Parts: sequence; C-alpha cells; structure tokens
Amino acid sequence: MLLKETQDQLLPTLKTYFGYDSFRAQQQQIVESVLLKKDNLVIMPTGGGKSICFQLPALLFEGLTLVISPLIALMKDQVDGLKANGIEADFFNSSQDSIEQEAIFEQIIQQKLKLLYVAPESLSLLQNILTEEHLSCVAIDEAHCISSWGHDFRPSYQQLGFLKQTLPNTPIIALTATADKATRADILEQLNIPKATQFIASFDRKNIELEVRPANDRMAQIIKFIRKQPNESGIIYCLSRKGTEQTAAKLKQNGINAAAYHAGLNFDERSKVQENFIYDQTKVVCATIAFGMGIDKSNVRWVIHYNMPKNIEGYYQEIGRCGRDGLKANALLFHSYADVIQLRKFMSGATNEEVQAAKLDRMKQFSEATACRRKILLSYFGELLAENCGNCDVCKNPPQFFNGTIIAQKALSVITRLKEKEAIGTVIDVLRGAHNATVLDKGYDKLKSHGVGSEISWRDWQQYLIQLMNQGYCEIAFHKNNALQLTEFSKKVLFQGEQVNLTKPTEFKEPIAAIKKS
Ligand code: ADP
Ligand code: ZN
Repeated sequence: MLLKETQDQLLPTLKTYFGYDSFRAQQQQIVESVLLKKDNLVIMPTGGGKSICFQLPALLFEGLTLVISPLIALMKDQVDGLKANGIEADFFNSSQDSIEQEAIFEQIIQQKLKLLYVAPESLSLLQNILTEEHLSCVAIDEAHCISSWGHDFRPSYQQLGFLKQTLPNTPIIALTATADKATRADILEQLNIPKATQFIASFDRKNIELEVRPANDRMAQIIKFIRKQPNESGIIYCLSRKGTEQTAAKLKQNGINAAAYHAGLNFDERSKVQENFIYDQTKVVCATIAFGMGIDKSNVRWVIHYNMPKNIEGYYQEIGRCGRDGLKANALLFHSYADVIQLRKFMSGATNEEVQAAKLDRMKQFSEATACRRKILLSYFGELLAENCGNCDVCKNPPQFFNGTIIAQKALSVITRLKEKEAIGTVIDVLRGAHNATVLDKGYDKLKSHGVGSEISWRDWQQYLIQLMNQGYCEIAFHKNNALQLTEFSKKVLFQGEQVNLTKPTEFKEPIAAIKKS
C-alpha cells in the first residue's frame, strides 16, 4: 500500500503540473504501482495517456527518472512541453557537445533533474549516473521495439536487459501502444522483469466502423466514399511515395482537397501538409505510414487503406488515428491480392522474414474473414469479445454459405492441368475459356478443362480462388512466379468428394485490373 501521504499528493500534483482534474482509466493504478517500486508493463492505445504513468511518479520520487525513447526527433518537443509545465526535464543525445553534457551531469548529481530523455544508443555515455543512488525509476517507451516479434524491432533496444541487472531495485515501467501476446512475453523476458504487473487497456474502439472491400476500381470507390462526407477530414494510407502522389492528384482532379505526404518531401513541405491538415485547410492526406505519428487531431473522421498494411499492429495503429473524439468514424481497407504479393516480396531476405510473413498472413486472413472483424482484431491483441460487434461489414452483412464443391473441383482441376505453373490470372483465363495470347501461345485452349468455368465471371472466380486459398485448398508459390499450387487438402476435394463451403462474392462492376497484370 502506498503511504497515505503520497496518496494524498497524487491528484494535486496531477492538477498543478499537468492541469488535469482526474485520472483516466488505469492511470492511477499504474502510477501507484510505479510508486510502490514494482515493475510494470503498460499497453495502452496511442492517445490513451501513457506519459502521465511515468511523468507523475517522476515528480514524487526523490531522484531522476530515466526515459528511454527511440524518437529522438520528438524528444525536444516532449521536454519543452514538460518545462513549460514547470517540470525539470531534459534530454541527452549525441547532438550535444561536452559542455552541454557536463551541465546535465551536474544537474543530475545535484538532484535537480526529474526526467531525462535518452535514446538507447546514448546510454553508454551515461554509465556514471546509471546507479541506484541517482536513479529512482526507468521508463522504456515504445517498448515493443525490443522484440523481433514486434513490428518495429530496433537492435539498439536489445541491450536494455542490462538495466535490471545493474539496477535491481529500481522500478522499470515499459510502455507501448502495440504489442500482441508474443511480443508482450518477449518484452518481459528481454527486460528481465518477468514478474512485472501488466496493465492492458482495452483496444476496442467501438466508434470506428470497420470495413474491408475488394480493391476493384479503388479510385472510383474512394471518390464516392469521400463525396458522402465532403467536409470531413481523412487519411488515405498508400504503400509507396508514388502512390500517395498519384492518389492525391486524382482526388484533386475530382475536386477533392487533398495533399500527399511522404518521407521524400523536405521538412518544410511536410510541416506544411501537417499543419494544413490539423487546421482543416486540407481535408484529405494521402500518406505513407510516416504520417500521423506525432499529430494530435481528434476529428479525423475516416482512414482508408488504399493498400494492404503489412501486419495487424500497423493496421490497428493507423485506423486508430480516426475517431479520437469518440464520435462515429470509418476505417475502410481495400484488400488486394496484388498488394499481398508485393508486400511478401519486400520481406524476402529480411532477418525475421518468417515472422513478417506470418504476420502478413494474419493480415490477409483478417481481410478475407467471414467472422466479425472486431473479434478477430481484438483477439489478435489478446482481448476476447463475447458478442459480435455489430459495427463491421461482416456483422452488418453476414455472409451466406453455399455448397461450392463443384466450383472448387473445377478450379483445382485447372490448376492440375496447368501443372501448378500459372498464376491466378491465367488460371482464371483458362477456367473461363479465354483465347488470349498467353492461353494460345501455351496451347492451354487445347486442355480438356479449358472453359469449364465460363459461366462464372472473371471477378467472381478471383474471389472464389481467394476463398479456396483461405481455406487451404490451394496456395501461392511466391518463389515460383506466384503460381497457384495444390495442397494436401486439394486431394480431398478432387478425389474424396469433400464438401467445400463458399460465400457469394461481393458485387462490383469492374474487373480487378491489378490482379490481371501479375
Ligand atoms: P500516449 O503517450 O498514450 O499516446 P499521451 O500521454 O500523449 O498519450 O496523452 C494523450 C493525450 O491525453 C494528451 O493530449 C494528454 O494531454 C491527454 N491526457 C492524458 N492524461 C489525461 C488526463 N488524466 N486527463 C485529461 N487528459 C489527459
Ligand atoms: Zn463485427
């Protein structure tokens, strides 16, 4: 139990230094746990109020709280904010000269400083003060960076395990906005704080309506979507710089007030786009993932993913940038098979390729799911919803299954005839009995199964094949030109009459051009 004396100081300190009248959910418990010198792991969405959890205890502890953060670019702002509130804070990094660094040491030794922000790379320079005499607490921000299971692994975080060994009695508080179950366990293990108390805030953002659509004629869909609420702000995430620019240009051609944002712009250009967005001068920003990290805009009404994100953590973090005011908001994801292939290619050769690929698979499964999307999303973060959410496309429009065994048999037999060498586009062309160059050149028009599926449209075949892949009846060989191949399960359908359940494809007018090319 916390001393009554300390307990009584909590609210007045919150008010005096931060200007808030009350704690938000869980903040008080976390603050108390830190003050009791326990180790803690805090998982709270962006904007949830993690900073108070270590900044307030820092003020009540005798010595210094060290804050480890990877975001050097944001450190100065954070420190300036604290100073403006009358808090003795500073940051320490390699950009400072030895005189400045000496001055910081001096302040620490005289116990004047309450918070010191430091990047993990600079920790070695601080060895002299990494003692229990000087430090009362260590906060590790963006703690998921320590885990190669996480989506933003940083090697410089890996050394942080030494902190607990050097400072066994100093409480550690690790904080992050995104960490699935595996990542959480890894954080505790690597930081040597196996007994840390875990505070996991709910990740459910009920006000955000979730929707996934096939990526047919995305631009037309996006324009229609925006025109339904033309005065609202939104973000469109694209995979590439070029994508952001093309999308913004198309929107402008259609009279929509849009701008592109990506790492290729210079600092001034980027600041300008951000500022215009924050002050509602620009309604729509087409951005790569770099956009939105530090911005605090509560009335972003929607987020569109023009391209598939590479994992669920990233997707969740990005959609979390809309609806912060708690009012109704929309997250629309375009599911494109071509994107999945592209992302998979980016990953090849990465050190943790397997993990990344598995995460991409989960993302794909989420996109193609026929169950409540929020349930899937939350269960990914270890939170189980008892009821379907009622605020996602699947809940609003539950799929109806039908016996699709014949369809499956046709598809799998064509894949067999094509010797498992052709990608999805050609498989569909052969199913539909096309007479295009590829089909004729390779003599596929002579195959017995050429045209067995001509009664089904190109687009519907595409969706059926994805469903078949989801259910494991066929798979893509990424390393063999994305050829569609059979699996163990295929045999059951082809030779043992196993029943396959499919859902009716969603209706769209245009064929999926992007897929045809691949
Ligand atoms: P996080 O680090 O989790 O993204 P922050 O600590 O930056 O979140 O807080 C997000 C916002 O919430 C900030 O604008 C902060 O001022 C505000 N906030 C935090 N705690 C409280 C509180 N107890 N009462 C009111 N506002 C708060
Ligand atoms: Zn739902």
